[in-house]
Amino acid sequence: MQTPFIIEQNDHQLIGSKADITYEISFEHATRHCISIRMIIANNTSSTIIAKSPVWIPGSYKVRDMNAHQHAVTIHEVNGNPLEWKWLSKHVMEIHNTSKSDIVIAYEYYANDKGVRTSHVNRNHAFIMPVACLMYVEGRMEEIHHVRIDAGHCEWKHITTALSPVDQSDNPQIPTFGALNYHILIDSPIEVGNHRCSSFEVAGAKHEIALIGQESVDMDWINGEIKRAVEIQHQFWGDLPYDRYVFFLMIGEGLRGGLEHLRCNVSAVEPSAFLDRTSAQGMMALLVHEFFHTWNVKRIRPIELGPFNYEEENYTTMLWLAEGWTSYYDDLLSYRSGFYSRDEYLSVLAQAHLGKLARVPGRFAMSLKDSSFLAWTKLYAVSPDQHNQFPSYYTKGGIVALLLDLLIIAKSDGKHKLEHALRAMWEKYKVDGQKGFTEDDIIAIIETTCNVSIKQEFDAWHNGIEELPYQSIFDQIGLEWKEHQAHAPQEWYGDFRPFHPKNPHIFFGSVISEDYGRLFVREVEKNSPADKAGIGIDDEIIAVNGKRVSTRIMLINALQSQGIKQPAELIAQCDGRMYETKVQLIPAISYSLKISDTITNKQERLLEYWLNA
Ligand SMILES: [Zn+2]
Repeated sequence: MQTPFIIEQNDHQLIGSKADITYEISFEHATRHCISIRMIIANNTSSTIIAKSPVWIPGSYKVRDMNAHQHAVTIHEVNGNPLEWKWLSKHVMEIHNTSKSDIVIAYEYYANDKGVRTSHVNRNHAFIMPVACLMYVEGRMEEIHHVRIDAGHCEWKHITTALSPVDQSDNPQIPTFGALNYHILIDSPIEVGNHRCSSFEVAGAKHEIALIGQESVDMDWINGEIKRAVEIQHQFWGDLPYDRYVFFLMIGEGLRGGLEHLRCNVSAVEPSAFLDRTSAQGMMALLVHEFFHTWNVKRIRPIELGPFNYEEENYTTMLWLAEGWTSYYDDLLSYRSGFYSRDEYLSVLAQAHLGKLARVPGRFAMSLKDSSFLAWTKLYAVSPDQHNQFPSYYTKGGIVALLLDLLIIAKSDGKHKLEHALRAMWEKYKVDGQKGFTEDDIIAIIETTCNVSIKQEFDAWHNGIEELPYQSIFDQIGLEWKEHQAHAPQEWYGDFRPFHPKNPHIFFGSVISEDYGRLFVREVEKNSPADKAGIGIDDEIIAVNGKRVSTRIMLINALQSQGIKQPAELIAQCDGRMYETKVQLIPAISYSLKISDTITNKQERLLEYWLNA
């Protein structure tokens, strides 16, 4: 019989609990970015212990070998007698414990990688990602695990984690936290430091916010915005699957992205996220996205994603469900939460979803399902040629979710939408959460719940590489999807007026980086003017029409002034050899999604049904 995969935990379950596997974590060497870890394994029944480190992080589909940062390993009995042990592979150790004593695996973990999926410690704080630095004992993952945090060396006031407190006293010297099993443990990051904290309640569940970073942020404002997002999702799903939930929000230069967990999420933004409306909207959409995962992927999940095999790739063709659908609903629910106006939401769909995919030639090269399956080597590898090779399952998966939603709305004449199917999947999870969903399960749930047939379109959109049928779907609800010739900005102030105002905004088709007065090509879009001119990735662009260009703005100015009537003459170099080429620029395209001026009553009814809860 398969071991039950338990992922739900309430705080009251761990109070006063006992554990035979305990990690003692301290920070004596925080200034050199090291976490000291003692893993105590008691109640051993075998003379051989196999201890392992995960090689990947659920939610981030790439083998990362996080234990590369583990060092200074010593293994001994609790009374100090050293034990014989050896590495069996890069992440597996075998320990000989003939007397079956309680043992200690002590090691340091170099944690100097700031981000949502890595551990980081310095003199100011420690962010611990257990999956990156805590080992497990083969055959004992389902036991209760405890973590003791000793921050005695540091003047740190707070510990925030979704792990449950074990201590019965309110203010223990070295607090202990617990998880019902290893799966929950490694899904629960811990922040120790002087971060800012706040909390609110929705539907009887406590929500905590831990603001990590040195920025001054209006806590009341962020508290209010996040609370609104939680209320909207509570309404969307019908209930909340936890007693307590933590939002970790990291703020720092160069930080971005998020990672979902069962009872918390970690989101990271640049300090500029708070500077203007558009940036703050992006931040709120990120928080909505990670929170949506509490249901979609942490619980409603592709069948291959849980129980996890932490030792190798866990392949699935269904990341369009996990990430695509979440990418669609993050913006729709941001609109319903009031973070976007209606026009802003349609504009985000046009630019950040539809327009973004339109700039990806790889959508004609690989299906959505293959893009998901190959995530392990494609998505996070970030090849400069990535967009020519494959469509991200985030972007294309989100657009397919949008089209599916509108298709269901049109076919059911405004009686059903995709969220009804999600809600049905949530109800099914609550009855039996052991098993994930197959693609056939999802098609069947949509067709039964929404009383429409969608299999033909579903198959074509997930397996095919043809352009998606935007306009025929948008027509049903009175939306117009258009490509426009983009115009260069007409108004400039002061001395800086770089573009020829009469020329249309031009399209070159490459990403250029500046490096101390030299311009290097970082990406080239297939079939773009740059590609047709033979300009390759890593080439250096030196001059346009006989004039030296040494900044990106000089290059843009030169190309923009050239316009589209005649080709521009470029001097470039590849591998140290100079070459000349002619590039025929074309007008840049921008995209819009607008409500039609001639929208009918029926279309308007369906449009309102789509947008509103
Ligand atoms: Zn996501």
